[in-house]
Amino acid sequence: DVNQDDLAVTDHLFVVADGMGGHRGGEVASTLATSVVVEDFDGTDRAALVHAVRQANRAVLERAAADTDLSGMGTTLCALAVVDGPGGQGGPEALAVVNIGDSRVYRLDAGGLIQVSDDHSLVADLVRAGELSAEEAAVHPQRNILTRALGIEVDPTIDSWEVSPARGDRFLLCSDGLFNELGDMRIAELLGDGSVHEAASRLVAEALDEGGHDNVSVLVVEVVNGP
Ligand code: MN
Repeated sequence: DVNQDDLAVTDHLFVVADGMGGHRGGEVASTLATSVVVEDFDGTDRAALVHAVRQANRAVLERAAADTDLSGMGTTLCALAVVDGPGGQGGPEALAVVNIGDSRVYRLDAGGLIQVSDDHSLVADLVRAGELSAEEAAVHPQRNILTRALGIEVDPTIDSWEVSPARGDRFLLCSDGLFNELGDMRIAELLGDGSVHEAASRLVAEALDEGGHDNVSVLVVEVVNGP
């Protein structure tokens, strides 16, 4: 009945956000965050992408402060952007990735599927501390508890990476509604099969078939130019 996820696509920017909060808070937070990132990002480099996410955080905080119905709202956000490479404008392009929360960015290449982003969640902390296995975390009843999100604090830590694109690589940006229903092996199979449109449609369809307990948002991006 309610879709608290939002996503945005431009020529060089791909964003997925998963909002939380009562009333319309979750929807407002995710939609506001993606739109601010699209408006603010100037396409130059990873720092500019992080800056845009900081602007989104400020916008969510200000909106929540201005409307008591929306107080406490927040959102995850992950994004992939085409940016100038080390040689600057005109040279080979690079990819920048940012993340806060537990939406994910995956990369599928000849070596298989890897998760580029780190989840900011209670169970991910426990896995990193060696107190929980990845298999236990995937079904843990408290796996939806986040340790970081936009709209919670004034100056959150936002993870970022630079990635060298290689032709044929596919990137997947998704909300937790996907990977809470499908394991990594199945995600890898579906992500690599058919066109990007077919892969995205099948990922969503299968997550819904498996229960669809949450909103499912998926962006599939393929590198068509490069080494
Ligand atoms: Mn979700």
